[in-house]
Amino acid sequence: MHSTVNISANTQYFLELEEKYGAHNYHPLPVVLERGEGVFVFDVDGKRYYDFLSGYSAVNQGHCHPRIIATLVEQAQKLTLTSRAFHSNLLGEYERYITAYFGYDKVLPMNTGVEAVETAIKLARHWGYRVKGIAEDRAKIIVCSNNFHGRTTGVISFSNDPVATTDFGPFIAGYEKIAFNDLAALEKALQDKNVCGFLFEPIQGEAGVVVPDEGYYKGVRTLCSEYNVLMIADEIQTGLARTGHMLACDAEQVRPDILVLGKALSGGILPVSAVLSDDALMMTIKPGEHGSTYGGNPLACAVAMTALQVLKDENMAAQADAMGELLRSELRKLNSPFIETVRGKGLLNAIVIKHPNPDAAWELCLALKENGLLAKPTHGDKIRFAPPLVINKEQVLECVRIIEKSLSRLA
Ligand SMILES: *Cc1c(COP(=O)(O)O)cnc(C)c1O
Repeated sequence: MHSTVNISANTQYFLELEEKYGAHNYHPLPVVLERGEGVFVFDVDGKRYYDFLSGYSAVNQGHCHPRIIATLVEQAQKLTLTSRAFHSNLLGEYERYITAYFGYDKVLPMNTGVEAVETAIKLARHWGYRVKGIAEDRAKIIVCSNNFHGRTTGVISFSNDPVATTDFGPFIAGYEKIAFNDLAALEKALQDKNVCGFLFEPIQGEAGVVVPDEGYYKGVRTLCSEYNVLMIADEIQTGLARTGHMLACDAEQVRPDILVLGKALSGGILPVSAVLSDDALMMTIKPGEHGSTYGGNPLACAVAMTALQVLKDENMAAQADAMGELLRSELRKLNSPFIETVRGKGLLNAIVIKHPNPDAAWELCLALKENGLLAKPTHGDKIRFAPPLVINKEQVLECVRIIEKSLSRLA
């Protein structure tokens, strides 16, 4: 195995700027991008790559989707921010649009994904105290091991990734971890009357695209209803057509009590996130109890409406389903000794690398980059394959050839 990374002087210049002036809180591949279009991104030397990360599924609609960009530009010239101290002519329109789209009474708009998760937690606790009747400060939320819900001190309080938590304490109490995809463990945890919610990712993305057994969502739904606990689905990464359905929970016709969205809600254009639920829950929050300066800003409202409409108009869920099937079956056909597993749903996929060198996944990503495809390892030996949903059949087949060629470099 040999890693030859070609880095131009031009690229090196930008790498050094970030190295010198930016915090080192990421370890990116050595590629510097300056343009994107559909499934492709282009680096500062003009080299073209397939984007197999899609901004961690923020760019489901494809880079710089012309309709979303047109909305962005048009609205940016009119009004971008009012704060929630005043109304805007777009907030109500957006709220009506997104609640009808997903079938909930109300929405609470935020910006980043983790803020929406925090919002869902606050909402569940409020409901726990004000509706369920849990005693003060006793509310508990059940979460899954190996979860990823974001990076605030509140949210890392229930992470079990030492990299995310070490030397960031003290942490917030009120969480209990159970195994993912384990209904018996959930039922046991729900015996505690102080539990107000079960927060989970329908497919664990950061953990390496861990898909639960069929029937898990239905089982979660049944148990949460039975024990009067809120089912809180973090669909920030699994939602918005990525897994072959508009929401991953749609695969089993399951409706969470609280739906958390982000990432592709703006098509990769602005940080736009949202929490959806019905009146019985959302109306427990009174003026002044929660908010965000940028949450629900007119620019975000306009962009999100177009980003959601594009998903429907271009049948992106069906596209993700078909192209995902093709990608997984072609990858399995490679029969590579270095691929232990190919797994996923729709276009949220991962391969698990089998190789004596612990850095093999990183080396493979460098080889993929040389051959024109960008992907990033997660947790050492897993590589996510999640291109924009606008990828077509010929492109999937070309990508599989790139992957095949790159795998041969591990020999
Ligand atoms: C990305 C992600 C988040 C956090 O979103 P940010 O916008 O980075 O704060 C939360 N939950 C899941 C499942 C995610 O994939």
